[in-house]
Amino acid sequence: MTDPLQPRGGTLAVPTFLPDATRAGVRGVSSDDLRAVGVEGLVVNAFHLMRRPGARVMQGAGGVHRFMDWDGPILSDSGGFQVWSLIRQDPKRGVIRDNEVIFREPSTGEKWNLTPERVIQLQLQLGSDVLVCLDDCTDAEAPPEEQERSVERTVRWARRSREELDRQVAQRGIDAPRLFAVVQGGAIEHLRRQCAVELNAIGFDGYGFGGWPLAADGSLLVEPMRWVAETLPPSAPKHALGIGRPDHVVNAFALGYSIFDCALPTRDARHGRLYAFRPGGADRRPTPGADFYAAVRIHDPEYRVDHGPIEDGCDCVACTRHSRAYLHHLFKVGDHSAERLATLHNLRFYVRLFELLRR
Ligand SMILES: [Zn+2]
Repeated sequence: MTDPLQPRGGTLAVPTFLPDATRAGVRGVSSDDLRAVGVEGLVVNAFHLMRRPGARVMQGAGGVHRFMDWDGPILSDSGGFQVWSLIRQDPKRGVIRDNEVIFREPSTGEKWNLTPERVIQLQLQLGSDVLVCLDDCTDAEAPPEEQERSVERTVRWARRSREELDRQVAQRGIDAPRLFAVVQGGAIEHLRRQCAVELNAIGFDGYGFGGWPLAADGSLLVEPMRWVAETLPPSAPKHALGIGRPDHVVNAFALGYSIFDCALPTRDARHGRLYAFRPGGADRRPTPGADFYAAVRIHDPEYRVDHGPIEDGCDCVACTRHSRAYLHHLFKVGDHSAERLATLHNLRFYVRLFELLRR
């Protein structure tokens, strides 16, 4: 078992799941709700918060913790992944160069210039406890030249990020936040290993598995994840960025990853897709390949008259106080409390899953 992570905002037992509060909020639920279901830490996105409400507003609020009333640890993602996927969808939105990323706001034409240094400064303005270096993201399917360039930039940008954080901490005399780097290299073994070795030589508090995390068929990139985990020291915290699905989490945990974040459980909840342990599934630690959970599609007509809970044995507010029939009804009439209850149930499922993995 890996040692607990000690970010500035407190201790995180690992493995840990950090729900995505991308824009400083988990949609439809309050900080009290999150605490009540046992959530210990959150992930926000520095790139999105820079766009709206803007770094000045965040700073004026006294940082992201006070802004959103969350006193637990907060990890801020750099936004390298988001800016890459937005530019990939529409090349007119910007360009990724050797020393910077230029992004144009589609609605206003406003131009953002992201450098490794600027992204560290931005995350310091947010006051997050774990910072993530700007990286140059790729798709696992991208050609080798692109993967090579991505690794070269990612390592160079990580070094500049490390230097900038150390300089800022010394200048400001502040308690240093943790800094995570991101390993790129696509599905090419020697590049993934080279990137992990070079980042580890610079020295970071944790390492994210970067790039699009799934293969074209939706399966986990098991081999690339294994190369990275094997190359890094066993004690180095490993973050499976954007992963995910409960069975993917179990697989990645078995490979040595201990920090997870994903928008999936909250997004699925809003779409009425609720996770439930299969009978006996909540009693033992799931192993890779185990069929330990199922998804209840609460919109299905069969739940209209189902007066049982979403999951027998779940202690969340949705399961202890309400029935599947009630949730089905709330979704049907478009009542927003349906999304809140469903989100709390799915987050509670993840908290319980991670308690099993810690056993
Ligand atoms: Zn529940």
